[in-house]
Amino acid sequence: MSKNYEVVIGLEVHVQLNTKSKIFCSCPTSFGDEPNINTCPVCLGLPGALPVMNKEAVKKAVMFGKAVNAKINKISTFERKNYFYPDLPKGYQISQFVVPIVENGEIILDNGKKIGITRAHLEEDAGKNIHEGDVSKVDLNRAGTPLLEIVSEPDMRSSDEAIEYLKKLHAIVKYLGISDANMQEGSFRCDANVSVRPKGQKEFGTRVEIKNLNSFRFIKQAIEYEVERHIEAYEYDEYEDEVIQETRLFDTKSGETKSMRGKEESADYRYFPEPDLLPLEVPDEFFGIEIPELPNEKKKRYMEEYKLKEYDAGVLTAEPELAEFFEKMIELGVEPHAANRWLAIELLGRLNKAGINIKNSPVTPDKLSLIAIREKEAVISGAGGKKVLDLLMEEEIEVDAAIEKLGLKQVSDEGAIEKMVDEVLERNSDKVAEYKSGKEKLFGFFVGQVMKASKGKANPQIVNKILKEKLK
Ligand code: ADP
Ligand code: MG
Ligand code: ZN
Repeated sequence: MSKNYEVVIGLEVHVQLNTKSKIFCSCPTSFGDEPNINTCPVCLGLPGALPVMNKEAVKKAVMFGKAVNAKINKISTFERKNYFYPDLPKGYQISQFVVPIVENGEIILDNGKKIGITRAHLEEDAGKNIHEGDVSKVDLNRAGTPLLEIVSEPDMRSSDEAIEYLKKLHAIVKYLGISDANMQEGSFRCDANVSVRPKGQKEFGTRVEIKNLNSFRFIKQAIEYEVERHIEAYEYDEYEDEVIQETRLFDTKSGETKSMRGKEESADYRYFPEPDLLPLEVPDEFFGIEIPELPNEKKKRYMEEYKLKEYDAGVLTAEPELAEFFEKMIELGVEPHAANRWLAIELLGRLNKAGINIKNSPVTPDKLSLIAIREKEAVISGAGGKKVLDLLMEEEIEVDAAIEKLGLKQVSDEGAIEKMVDEVLERNSDKVAEYKSGKEKLFGFFVGQVMKASKGKANPQIVNKILKEKLK
């Protein structure tokens, strides 16, 4: 990217709240059911059916507001956003336009930069259109699922900043437990607004909106593609023609964005107050609601309490499941640095390679902790521990049984080791003489010989200790 230009990014994120029932009716919100069974007159948009606000959805929105240091409005309003689409049988979506429940929040990036959150508002999700060859079908199970739409300020200046913001937002939502935030299933979806301006220009460039991006990688690719397109347009003096305010779609196969439709303005939606709902009044008790420790705080605590490096603390706190796993290991008596090494490097490395999420890890915190403990006790070596872990990834087996099965138990019996040391020194009397006359580098050679004699099973600490005594 050229250094003569500045990128401006603002993100809109739709988070599906994990309430049991829909936002304005009592239909279940479960994913993957037979099409159109989770529906009723309200979410089908039948005439005369009346919406009733779901209190849990309000509570979850308030929790989010607290987590991002936002203002929570005691009174907010619902409006109808009118548009036609087959997956929207009412012909309008109930959303918050005039006064959202949450306003003026922020997310703080690792370098301290604050990204503003303009607003977060409650609304209902639409259904889904499914296109199969010549036929298109409509599934309304999703219609009426509660959404929290989180709109950022245009504060991000690179695709990396955008991804960092999104990952932080994703982690916060998961820590709060207000959404599964599963991107593949669409419970955490992002629209990216991108513009580019020549360095030094005060006004923003024309923004395009890229819709419905469902992985961090695609979001980054889409933004970068779009940025290049804008810069090229400037360079060829075609900016006015090529960059127009519009909605674009990202093609994951070609890695390109394509125009989908002209950008609609809010006036196009003919917003008006939802006549079937009173203004939303947040119950007083929600203002005092406690929220769990959030990733940024947890990371700071890990650095202070466990003396972990910033990078390691960042990895461990990126997902609540990972932090929980780590804390369980600490509870079981594993030292923080050992827990970090066994979890973040050894186990995560293996899980990533196998494409398994930590949630579904075949190795439990109990088992991983026991590996670390057996290493600490010098029952096994570090290398032995890795072999145990490899086996645990493949087989349902206890740690001690695995150590036995793989024959990894170290020899820590001092008498037995002393015997091996004596034999090695006797066989190498010439080298012993050299060592004693000052060639101290030979110490490693003796260690190696003893380890070899023990077939790698002697406890290296004890080997070292005995050798030192004998060679004095
Ligand atoms: P709409 O519903 O029209 O998309 P919103 O206000 O919901 O409008 O969202 C606008 C988003 O676009 C916000 O995230 C905002 O930060 C971002 N944005 C506005 N202007 C620009 C711009 N020039 N470049 C990049 N992003 C922008
Ligand atoms: Mg938008
Ligand atoms: Zn319903």
